Amino acid sequence: MDFDLNDEQRAMRDALRAFLLKECPIEYVRECDEKEAYPYELYEKLAAQGWLGIPIAEEYGGTGGSCMDLVLFLEELARHFEAAANLYYTTIVIAADAIGHFGTEAQKRELLPKLAAGKLRFAFSLSEPNSGSDAASLRTRAVMDGNEWLINGQKMFCSAAQVADYILLMARTDTEAPKHKGITMFLLDPKAPGVEIRRLKKLGLKPMDLNEIFLTDVRVPADAIIGEANKGWTNVLKTLDYERCCLSGVNVGAAQSVLEKCLAYSQEREQFGQKISSFQLTRAKLADMEMEIDAARLLTYRSATLVDKGIANNKESAIGNLASSETYVRAALNGMRIMGGWGYLMEYDMQRHFRDSKLAEIGGGTSEILRIVISREMLKG
Ligand SMILES: Cc1cc2nc3c(=O)[nH]c(=O)nc-3n(C[C@H](O)[C@H](O)[C@H](O)COP(=O)(O)OP(=O)(O)OC[C@H]3O[C@@H](n4cnc5c(N)ncnc54)[C@H](O)[C@@H]3O)c2cc1C
Repeated sequence: MDFDLNDEQRAMRDALRAFLLKECPIEYVRECDEKEAYPYELYEKLAAQGWLGIPIAEEYGGTGGSCMDLVLFLEELARHFEAAANLYYTTIVIAADAIGHFGTEAQKRELLPKLAAGKLRFAFSLSEPNSGSDAASLRTRAVMDGNEWLINGQKMFCSAAQVADYILLMARTDTEAPKHKGITMFLLDPKAPGVEIRRLKKLGLKPMDLNEIFLTDVRVPADAIIGEANKGWTNVLKTLDYERCCLSGVNVGAAQSVLEKCLAYSQEREQFGQKISSFQLTRAKLADMEMEIDAARLLTYRSATLVDKGIANNKESAIGNLASSETYVRAALNGMRIMGGWGYLMEYDMQRHFRDSKLAEIGGGTSEILRIVISREMLKG
C-alpha cells in the first residue's frame, strides 16, 4: 500500500496550510473557544476556496475528492483549529455522504450545491436519552398522518443544531420490525412547529454547540426523508467506515498540534538552568507522542486508502479511529504534564486540547464500542 501523497494532494495541503496561517490565526481559535462562537467567517472563506465541496461530486457543485483527500484536509484543518474540523465533519461531511449516497436526484440537485457553497448547514441527530451506544434502540416515533409524517420524541446530544438549516433526524417508523430495520432518516426543518432545541453546557469543543431536541407533533412532508423508509439504520452503517476515517483525520491533526506546542514550549522553558527539553523524561514524552501520532496517521491513511479502493475496512477504520482518538487524549494529557502549572492556565492552548480531546473517545463510537467492533471482526468465522 502506497501512502505517498500525489501532486494534487500535496498542493491542496500546502495551499490549505498557507490559507489557515493567514485566515485562522491562533487568536481567532481562542476567541471562538472563549465566546463559544461558530466560526462563520472561516467557513465563508473555506467555501470561497471550494473546500466545502471536497466530499461532494462535481456534478453537484463539489470537487469530488477521495476519502484520502478529505482525511488530509481535515487533518490540516484540525492542526490549526480542531473545533472547525469537527464542525466541517458534522455540518458538511455527514450530510454530503447521506444525501450523496441515498438522496433522490431532486434532493441531490437541491441540497448538495448549497452545501458545497456554504449556504446550508446540517446536524445529525441519532442519540437519545436512553440510546447512545445502543443507538438502534431509539424511541422517537414517526407515523404517517394523511400525507405527512408526525414525529414525537426526544433526541439527545445533537451537535450544531443551533446553526443547522436541516437536521438529519433518525426516528422509528416501524415498531413491529427488528430494532435495526424500522428506522428512517428525516430531513427536519429545525424551525418547524413542535421542534424545541435546548443548548447543553459542555466541557470542550466550545464553538460546536450541543443540544437536546424535543419533538411534539412535528409535521414533516411525506417525501422529506433521505433514503427509503425503514432503511435508515442500514444506510448509516454503509457510510460509517468512511465517517470514522474522517474523524481519525481530525484526531491526528489535533494530536499533531499538541506535539508541535510541546516541542516549542519545552525548548523555551528552563528549569534547573536547562531547557526542559534536555530532560530525558520530557524527551521520552515527546518521542512517545511522535511514535503514536505517526502510527495513528498511517493507520488512518490505510483505512482511507481501503475506503477509496472499495475494500471492506470495518476493522481497519475502527482501528484507525481507536488509535487516533486515544493517541490524541494521551498527547493532550502529556502536553499538560510538559507545561506544568502553565498548562492549567486558560491563556495557554493546552487546556483547550485537554478539554477538546475527550470527545474523540466518544464521538465515533466510544473506545469500548470500537474495541467490540475490532474484536468482532477478529473472531469472525
Ligand atoms: C460533545 C458530543 C457531541 C455529540 N454529537 C452527537 C451528534 O451530533 N449526533 C448524535 O446522534 N450523537 C452525538 N453524540 C452522542 C454520542 O454519539 C454518544 O454520547 C455515544 O455514542 C455514547 O453514548 P452514551 O453517551 O449514551 O453512552 P452509553 O452508551 O450509555 O455508554 C456508557 C458507557 O458504557 C459503555 N458501553 C456501552 N455499551 C457497551 C458494551 N456493549 N460493552 C462495553 N461497554 C459498553 C460505553 O463505552 C461507555 O463507557 C455526541 C456526544 C457528545 C458528548
